[in-house]
Amino acid sequence: MTVTAPPAWETMPALMYHSVSAVGGPLRDLAVPPERLAEQLAALTAAGYRLVGLSEALDLLERGSTDKLIAVTFDDGYRDFLTHAVPALAAAGARATLYASVGHLGAYADWLGAAAPAFGPMLSWDELAEAAAAGVEIGNHSLIHHPLDVLPPAELRAEIIRSHDELEQRLRVKVRSFAYPHGYNGRRVRDVVRSAGHDNATEVGRRLHSPREHRFAVPRLQPTPDHSGADLVALVAGGGSPLVPRLKQLAQPGWRVVRKAARRAGRNLT
Ligand SMILES: [Zn+2]
Repeated sequence: MTVTAPPAWETMPALMYHSVSAVGGPLRDLAVPPERLAEQLAALTAAGYRLVGLSEALDLLERGSTDKLIAVTFDDGYRDFLTHAVPALAAAGARATLYASVGHLGAYADWLGAAAPAFGPMLSWDELAEAAAAGVEIGNHSLIHHPLDVLPPAELRAEIIRSHDELEQRLRVKVRSFAYPHGYNGRRVRDVVRSAGHDNATEVGRRLHSPREHRFAVPRLQPTPDHSGADLVALVAGGGSPLVPRLKQLAQPGWRVVRKAARRAGRNLT
């Protein structure tokens, strides 16, 4: 009996970066130092991958591209994206999608609590426009970066629609892609994301995307500071890694805290 490997286009890796810096403590895996990012991107390119933003990757898949595609994404909108990620992407001949948490632009990632200053300031609107002018796809990451599936309908719509429209109006670009804050989504959330004018969205997932799945919950893999270039090539080839991000263990307790807080505030959790 022979085992046939699936064609390359049956799965597509998508990568989820956050800050491009060195951060210590329990949120260390949300920051990849600049030299490590450069090493990872160079290794993927050398392995024959074509690195593009998420909307472009999905378009290429739909058109039947047989290229070895990887969607590269950066969440939140830290200022170090402009100073470190943009040059690293250019050096690797890569493109990417940057998801901006609109309500935090020009300020700090307050949802990270005491760790926020270690991640540095967020991009200003002018800096976000600079990233767009450099060829980066700008995606939407909501207004305040709150898990969306616990919000009542009016707040849910404001989080998704106001951020989308503000990005389009201020940057004069089409905003096609959405990243769920903390990854959490459900049909109710996805329906609002679609009706706001996005045509794709991404979650956390930690597995490879299959083009047969719908494009409003594209899963992503998380490169960490511990992944060498070779480790990352192995990760995208297999969709799994012996290097389990610490955040994976942290995500669940963090989510419980948010849910408890939402209940105390009397929010509808359906
Ligand atoms: Zn985020």
